[in-house]
Amino acid sequence: MNKALITRWAWRWLSRTASIWTHIVRDRYGGAGMGDHRWPSLNTRASQICKGLFADRSEVVNAFVWKVGDGRSVHFWLDRWAGESRLSDLVPDIFRLAAKKEGSVFEFFDEGTGSWQVELLRGRLSTTETDQYATLMDRITPLRTLEGSADQIRWQPNATGTFSVKSAYTWWRVNGAGNLPRCPRFNQIWRPKVPLKIKVFMWFLSLERLLTRAYRARWAPNDSKACSLCAEPIETVQHLFCSCPVSRELWDEVGVQTGAWTAFTSLEEMWEAQPGRPNPTDNSLEATIAQTIIPAGAWTIWRTRNEVIFRGARAHKENMWDMFRGCVRDWGRFIANAEEVTFRGGRIQVTT
Ligand SMILES: [Zn+2]
Repeated sequence: MNKALITRWAWRWLSRTASIWTHIVRDRYGGAGMGDHRWPSLNTRASQICKGLFADRSEVVNAFVWKVGDGRSVHFWLDRWAGESRLSDLVPDIFRLAAKKEGSVFEFFDEGTGSWQVELLRGRLSTTETDQYATLMDRITPLRTLEGSADQIRWQPNATGTFSVKSAYTWWRVNGAGNLPRCPRFNQIWRPKVPLKIKVFMWFLSLERLLTRAYRARWAPNDSKACSLCAEPIETVQHLFCSCPVSRELWDEVGVQTGAWTAFTSLEEMWEAQPGRPNPTDNSLEATIAQTIIPAGAWTIWRTRNEVIFRGARAHKENMWDMFRGCVRDWGRFIANAEEVTFRGGRIQVTT
């Protein structure tokens, strides 16, 4: 599922060229040309999240195919638009001989004669090259550009051409054989009824890829690595969410108020405290809400930490508890459809 979600970013990048997100990425990293220039160039200083989002582009690009309109935004050789493969892969010897290796589909089509113009560096061809040239012409002759019509990107695994996470998941299962790491925390991360952004956050947390100060220090070695909450020398994920005394205060309070076991001292133990479904036969609303306790606590710690860093706020135990309670309550009401969620007598009480 993780890869399927990442593929969604590739889809957004390719199809919604006007979104704010694509503008931001394009401003910083370029891209949005044709063929291989379509992707942003993520150098070593690019954000880790951004790199993660595009990590699979060379694999996933095979699942996208162009429906050519005027052909102006589709690369003749390097995009998939005529059949299953890129033309550069279909006829590699001809691609090597091609006089023009850049250029859009539009530039290769001659409106006047209604035919394709693929000039080669030499006229005398070997048998293999002749075969390949014939294959190329066979492939493109029935096709033509359509002036006044926009090029469209289509997601092939879905018959309608539009992207869905479900079809991407299926696509990865088939095409990423042995390549689809089943996240060991899959259930704990993706099952709880919390907003998608929280699931993604928990996923980054499980990979220890959150941009803690220890993580940032990899490319900003002069910045402070100290914990933003307690001034311990190194702010790792492990420290911030498990052993930081400020976080521990929150977890202890959470344990007392909800009756959940929160006395963990490591990430491993934290996941133990976060069952995907404590009891498969227990589909009660209480059990569903209980699954949001760990994400709510972790999210509270992360938000508090960010407010300390970016707004100069101070971490207060009471504020953190309020924030935690707000998360569990709101998610319970708006996602799990509970009428009301309250905390009483050391347990969570759910009204339906
Ligand atoms: Zn700390």
